[in-house]
Amino acid sequence: MRAQTPTDSEPSNSLRYINSTTKDSSLAPKKSDNTRYYDILGVSKNASQDDLKKAYKKAAIKNHPDKGGDPEKFKELAQAYEVLSDPEKREIYDQYGEDALKEGMGGGADGHDPFDIFQSFFGGNPFGGSSKGGRRQRRGEDIVHPLKVSLEDLYLGTTKKLSLSRNVICSKCKGKGSKSGESIQCAGCQGSGMKVTMRQLGPSMIQQMQQPCNDCKGTGETISDKDRCSACKGEKVVPEKKVLEVVVEKGMQNGQRITFPGASDEAPDTITGDIVFVLQQKEHPKFKRKGDDLFVEHNLSLTEALCGFQFVLTHLDGRQLLIKSNPGEVVKPDSFKAINDEGMPMYQRPFMKGKLYIHFTVDFPDYLSPEHVKALEVVLPPKPLSPLSDMELDECEETTPHNVNIEEEMRRKQQQAQAEAYEEDEDMQGGAQRVQCAQQ
Ligand SMILES: [Zn+2]
Ligand SMILES: [Zn+2]
Repeated sequence: MRAQTPTDSEPSNSLRYINSTTKDSSLAPKKSDNTRYYDILGVSKNASQDDLKKAYKKAAIKNHPDKGGDPEKFKELAQAYEVLSDPEKREIYDQYGEDALKEGMGGGADGHDPFDIFQSFFGGNPFGGSSKGGRRQRRGEDIVHPLKVSLEDLYLGTTKKLSLSRNVICSKCKGKGSKSGESIQCAGCQGSGMKVTMRQLGPSMIQQMQQPCNDCKGTGETISDKDRCSACKGEKVVPEKKVLEVVVEKGMQNGQRITFPGASDEAPDTITGDIVFVLQQKEHPKFKRKGDDLFVEHNLSLTEALCGFQFVLTHLDGRQLLIKSNPGEVVKPDSFKAINDEGMPMYQRPFMKGKLYIHFTVDFPDYLSPEHVKALEVVLPPKPLSPLSDMELDECEETTPHNVNIEEEMRRKQQQAQAEAYEEDEDMQGGAQRVQCAQQ
């Protein structure tokens, strides 16, 4: 009987099914689990050295703690690879299982640091400089803040001062948490920082869960009350106020990130994460932005549309632009005009600017008096002539259409159709239920 680990088990919460008869078995040549390492790497029992290499490489990159992976999973991968890549150890493992290696037959499966194995494999850290402080360090979390800015801020550029509170390594104890610099191995987890709990799921199934140890908050060590550092109360870190100057450059975009590397919370044996500000542009009452271009709405009276317009537009930097039509030009409703170089400054090339688009709507009068109609007919292009004679027109049925709000009418019709479809659906379901009942 052997245990099995589902290959797609959750990180840090490995679910293992163990046949309970294993526990009672006291037969002499005991054979422990000899498939788990293959499962961890996701390869078959007859995998070649090449297969193992490929599988380890792929999984180790994916689960590397520097990339936010689970350290336990990363360790397991290294363990599995270390054993299976050594022909002698692999033979022992295949024959006698994991326990045999732990008992020293093959030099131990726990012998090496998973980061050593990873580095020997890649000849360095493939993720760049983030691990330069020491390879055993895990990377702290980044703190991400939204930063609200106006469109004016993005047009002109600005500096925002922000005061933040963050944890820094206690200077009194240099992050040890104790006066003496000593710490005691946590009794709750034997220093591993993790606790394993078992739960009986069925007659032959035990669920094994790994959770961070509560007693030591996953650090694996505790400090005696007397020895606790007075400055940080043994927490190893103290809060510190910090003012950050966030420079918002001309032309930055909504959603753009401004990063302060290593400005996040400090923690012992941890590479400090970044503070990241994500720009959130507030809606502007007048201008809309699309990339480097700006859009503005402008409403004209019918007279302006026909006889020419001029208006003053206050730009994002306060400049007043006098915008005029060409002489004799007629502006049609729902048309656009553009002004070059009056859009947004381009990021990191602020001397270049996008376009400013103006969208025109035209207000038409609702009613004209008969005199106005006559006057207009004199100046406007003549009406088209009817192909029918006056007599033929007299024979037509005369009708005057009324005004409608077409969007509202269409919406109402659609809602009606949906409601009817729903009722039909209900009817069918009801019928099916009745049939089921009748069959029982
Ligand atoms: Zn503990
Ligand atoms: Zn301290």
